[in-house]
Amino acid sequence: MFIGSHLSISRGYEQAGKEALRIGANTFQYFTRNPRGGRARKLDQTDMDKLRALMEENRFGPLLGHAPYTLNPASDKETVRAFAEIAMREDLARMDLLPGNYYNFHPGSHVGQGVEKGLDYIIGLLNLVLPAVQGTKVLLETMAGKGTEIGGNFEEIAAILQQVNQPEKMGVCLDTCHIHEAGYDIVKDLDGVLDAFDRIIGLDKLFAIHLNDSKNPKGAKKDRHEKIGEGTLGLSTIEKIINHEKMQSLPFYLETPNEPEGYAEEIALLRGLRNTLQTDK
Ligand code: FE
Ligand code: FE
Ligand code: ZN
Repeated sequence: MFIGSHLSISRGYEQAGKEALRIGANTFQYFTRNPRGGRARKLDQTDMDKLRALMEENRFGPLLGHAPYTLNPASDKETVRAFAEIAMREDLARMDLLPGNYYNFHPGSHVGQGVEKGLDYIIGLLNLVLPAVQGTKVLLETMAGKGTEIGGNFEEIAAILQQVNQPEKMGVCLDTCHIHEAGYDIVKDLDGVLDAFDRIIGLDKLFAIHLNDSKNPKGAKKDRHEKIGEGTLGLSTIEKIINHEKMQSLPFYLETPNEPEGYAEEIALLRGLRNTLQTDK
């Protein structure tokens, strides 16, 4: 089982890899730069190579680089869209120095311009940046549908994937808290939701899972993550998710409100819930 949590790379890539091992993880998610915007840390290829060696030695699953929250390709402001393009180009060029990993971003918020306009901007940006991408999968995150967020339903995600010029370079990261708050009933009908995902987007496009419980009821569209087993999804739903035949081989990334020690406990808990028929734990 590939499981990890969100970790900081502020002390370097290799350190983050060591921290992952310390908390029982075999992958992790990190912000490619300050989540509220700004610059990426100084490029250090040696540090990246050390992480690559650590990952090989410990059979890590793919890492997930998360774009900053301020990246909004669907904005009505030219400057905001320009930042999205620059940041995404830089992030992807850097991620390609450690190939085989995933880059996740929030599709964006249309801020009142309407979904169609927002989708056009997102597709336009992807068509600009994708040609240079070599070894990184670019993932769209499923969103809770808060405010004017795009990606709060499977149709909007599918619309992007169907209209980009290089869909083979893209995929989807499914956030369990987000889809629940978007209104998908994964508590009572996980199979039905996955069938809908398959019909609308295609399960072959699903590459990663953000594994979070939720503070809110289904359809709340607020996007508040909760610790595993302490929220409205509950432990039995989480257990079904990690053992589901359509998801069990994917990497799971925790974004629950925790410090590293809390993540270590959740990872141990989840490994314990992993179906005994699976030998990998
Ligand atoms: Fe996210
Ligand atoms: Fe997420
Ligand atoms: Zn969230």
